[in-house]
Amino acid sequence: MERSIRVQALVLSHNNFGEADRYIKLLTSDRGKISAIARGVRKLSSRKAGHLEPFTWVNAQLSRGNGSAWIIGQVSTLESFSGLVCDLDTTCSAAYVTELADKFTEEEVTSREIYQLTLETIRQLAKGGDEFPVLKAFELKLLDLAGYRPQLRNCVRCDAEIQPCDQYFSNAGGGVVCPGCVGKESGARPISMRSLKFFRYYQRNGFRAVCQVGWPQELRAESDSILGDYLTYILERQINSRVFRRKIG
Ligand SMILES: [Zn+2]
Repeated sequence: MERSIRVQALVLSHNNFGEADRYIKLLTSDRGKISAIARGVRKLSSRKAGHLEPFTWVNAQLSRGNGSAWIIGQVSTLESFSGLVCDLDTTCSAAYVTELADKFTEEEVTSREIYQLTLETIRQLAKGGDEFPVLKAFELKLLDLAGYRPQLRNCVRCDAEIQPCDQYFSNAGGGVVCPGCVGKESGARPISMRSLKFFRYYQRNGFRAVCQVGWPQELRAESDSILGDYLTYILERQINSRVFRRKIG
């Protein structure tokens, strides 16, 4: 087992423990998510503290002690994204992004694309401006990378091409259900054709490009609720499947 590694990482969150220590959750470029211990970081004299606040992009040296936990050694800031903490709404959005990144990644399983997407989203949020398109772009790209890309062009039940009229969305089916099949898909809910078009456009185009496109105010509540419910559904299922795996394992 390696004793010491150097990583480039985004700080996702931290938790206090002991008298002056913290567990730091890092999303690294090459090794997925790593939980590491920062010793003495809550002391006033700590030089590391400023580098290990959430949403900071860092270079860090990690080493394994006698136990199996990673300990943070030298750390330096690559970018602190100070714009994020000036505004409470922006701080909440950044916390939402890092929480989703945490939930959709595994400890020490490489997920370079999710790392890049999360970092880019934090960078966009720190710039200021309209957060809504940035968050929708993040959610849709994350679903894609995590293997839950919603199917939006053909009905998830009969595979017929979706016609340009209002449709339905099914969390269990993972996408759009046509009006002809909706009676057979319990839990499907209406989705307007306009929201559906925005979802498709965001799916099809690059992250930075779609962040500039905007999202009409009158569609925001609907889009937010559909994507939010779908993410919640997937996360609950993931958690359940983990519990199930543990039971049979
Ligand atoms: Zn159908």
